[in-house]
Amino acid sequence: MAEEIWTPLKLLGWTQGFFAGKGIDAPRLTAELLLATALGCDRVRLYLDFDKPVGDGELARFRDLVKRRSAGEPTAYLTGAREFFGHRLAVDARVLIPRPETEQLVELGLEALPEGGAALDLGTGSGALAIALALGRPGAAVTAVDLSPEALDVARANATALGAPVTFVAGDLYAPLPPGLRFDLVVSNPPYVPTAELAGLQREVLREPRLALDGGADGLAVLRRVVAGAPAWLQPGGLLLLEMHESHLESLPALCLAAGFERAEARRDLAGLPRLTVARMAAPAPPA
Ligand code: GLN
Repeated sequence: MAEEIWTPLKLLGWTQGFFAGKGIDAPRLTAELLLATALGCDRVRLYLDFDKPVGDGELARFRDLVKRRSAGEPTAYLTGAREFFGHRLAVDARVLIPRPETEQLVELGLEALPEGGAALDLGTGSGALAIALALGRPGAAVTAVDLSPEALDVARANATALGAPVTFVAGDLYAPLPPGLRFDLVVSNPPYVPTAELAGLQREVLREPRLALDGGADGLAVLRRVVAGAPAWLQPGGLLLLEMHESHLESLPALCLAAGFERAEARRDLAGLPRLTVARMAAPAPPA
């Protein structure tokens, strides 16, 4: 019997059906991303060479990726990259995979960041927020902190690859910052999932670092400390932008007001879920 000749088109058709049967999100796109990874090309190339037989080595690489994806490894860890705010970030199991809903934080942050201003990203992970801010506001001074040295390695490599001038610091939230700094903007997408909800998350999410997800019993363990520390590091009129769990709709704005912010409100994401809190410090008093 003649050996089956596998072309990109046949592989994509077969894999799409296989992934769909396994309940994997976006089966066609996932098949394309994994095949492009195995072949070392981009997705467009797959369709230019759709009828060209795929070699044995590439086929073996692709089979391995398909197997790992169906066992629950996130697609972005297998391809090694994820797009965020138009930038291609390298990601692996050392960092949370940037989510599209977090891009709203960049949009609001860029509006609030003046030319030559200073921004702080707490718990930067892959560097997504800090890098998008630095590239979106050339001349801004962006500082990014993370507790995880492994995450900082990923973030630093991303910033270098993308030419984003970000100062990275290892440590716990504000603790490693030199005293005297003041920021126009503090952003954070810290771990905020209530611990009891972790077990029920998609198996793909459970492959991500627990340090980036687990927000303690009410999900606010880290957010509470971010909020409490923020007024001392913000300029008058400065802005705090936080990602949060939908259950924080009322509690997080209330925590901001209690910490000394003048205004605080929750915002919804594109799916309609409460996802962000925006808090502003009082503006400077006008000269007497
Ligand atoms: N949004 C993430 C999720 O999908 C949680 C990220 C976080 O805790 N910062 O679970």
